[in-house]
Amino acid sequence: MYDLEIERVSEEVRKRGSRRVLLQLPDGLRPRAFEIIKSLSERTDAEYFLHGGSCYGGCDLAFHQGEAVNADLIIHYGHDKMVLDEKIPLIYINARVNFEVDKLIDSASPFLKGWGRIGLATTIQHSHQLEEAANCLKKKGYSVVVGGEGKKAHEKGQVLGCDYSSSIDVAAKVDGFLFIGGGRFHPLGLAYATRKPVVAADPYTLTVYTIGESELNRFAMRRMAAIEAARKASLFGVIVSIKPGQLKMKIAEQLRETLKSAGKEAVTICLDEVQVENLMNFSEFEAFVNTACPRIVLDGDIPLPKPIINWDEALIMLGLKGWWEGWKESLQG
Ligand code: SF4
Repeated sequence: MYDLEIERVSEEVRKRGSRRVLLQLPDGLRPRAFEIIKSLSERTDAEYFLHGGSCYGGCDLAFHQGEAVNADLIIHYGHDKMVLDEKIPLIYINARVNFEVDKLIDSASPFLKGWGRIGLATTIQHSHQLEEAANCLKKKGYSVVVGGEGKKAHEKGQVLGCDYSSSIDVAAKVDGFLFIGGGRFHPLGLAYATRKPVVAADPYTLTVYTIGESELNRFAMRRMAAIEAARKASLFGVIVSIKPGQLKMKIAEQLRETLKSAGKEAVTICLDEVQVENLMNFSEFEAFVNTACPRIVLDGDIPLPKPIINWDEALIMLGLKGWWEGWKESLQG
């Protein structure tokens, strides 16, 4: 289903005279890794290497690994351009997927009852068909609002797991959002960021479901509990990721100062992957503040026995930001 753009990639490799190419694939494309390398090798003279580490987003670029194998080009599949400072030349291939717009909108229609104004949002895989989806909804009598470009997301109505600014900007004008895309990760973030009901329509399975108020309330309760628990801590580990698009050293430094002014102590911990096993042995710290991908914390993916909060939640904890104001921050790029 994915448009792998083999001809375009081959042309780029030939044009640049690339000799050693590192291929970065998201998990969904890894079962086709050999097929992709074979196709590229048949069309070019370059040697290809597979990157086997994480590839969570356009933030997660394998410059360190590229340097280690002396790559002169990185091909990053499945995400949109996010990092401007390219240490090794880089090509992003969005891996777009076409879907049957009419069929999907027909499946979603029963879930949209009672809505007059619908906000449309999607990921880079499907943004090329968003206008077609909007026209289809309009024919059914809905008024449709599509946000502009986001802060990190470059196409109209496009969202990233950490950038819903396009949808946040139009949230006041809609009754709810129709999200087109697979999985719960993006529609959940859309609901967290906009506090609007979200109907998610999955073009891969044609399944449709709603993310409603009860899910949002559970999220808020979970995060409030973590913030309250962190409030009791006096020694904090401030996590900084070395992934190029997640590295927020300045924010971490400012935060350490802010914590100090509030009578707390804090030390920066530099990590590649924010995972429980990388944090467990830092047993002196009573709580952790994350400046890396906000979704690791918001989605509760780290089962730490100590509180872990995002940097903007730390500002909520210190009384410097309001509740929703703080969460919105890390979800708007
Ligand atoms: S949500 Fe996390 S993994 Fe996805 S692009 Fe943003 S920082 Fe990267």
